[in-house]
Amino acid sequence: MEKLVLDQDKCIGCGACVGIAPDSFEFDGGFSKVKDSTVTDAAISAKDACPTFAISIENEEKAEDIAA
Ligand code: SF4
Repeated sequence: MEKLVLDQDKCIGCGACVGIAPDSFEFDGGFSKVKDSTVTDAAISAKDACPTFAISIENEEKAEDIAA
């Protein structure tokens, strides 16, 4: 299962992701955070629009493989 991940340390609070994919991202103290980690077309557009590459898509199964 793929999921959205947002690195708040990289976020500059530009609002692009919240504007493009309001179902996926929301503001939290001036920076964006993931609201719903489901990977949607809008979320992928938001990821591509992020100027600081703060948004990524992670494969949960892979992460579990590494942890195992
Ligand atoms: S597009 Fe990137 S930098 Fe802008 S608010 Fe979203 S995560 Fe932060």
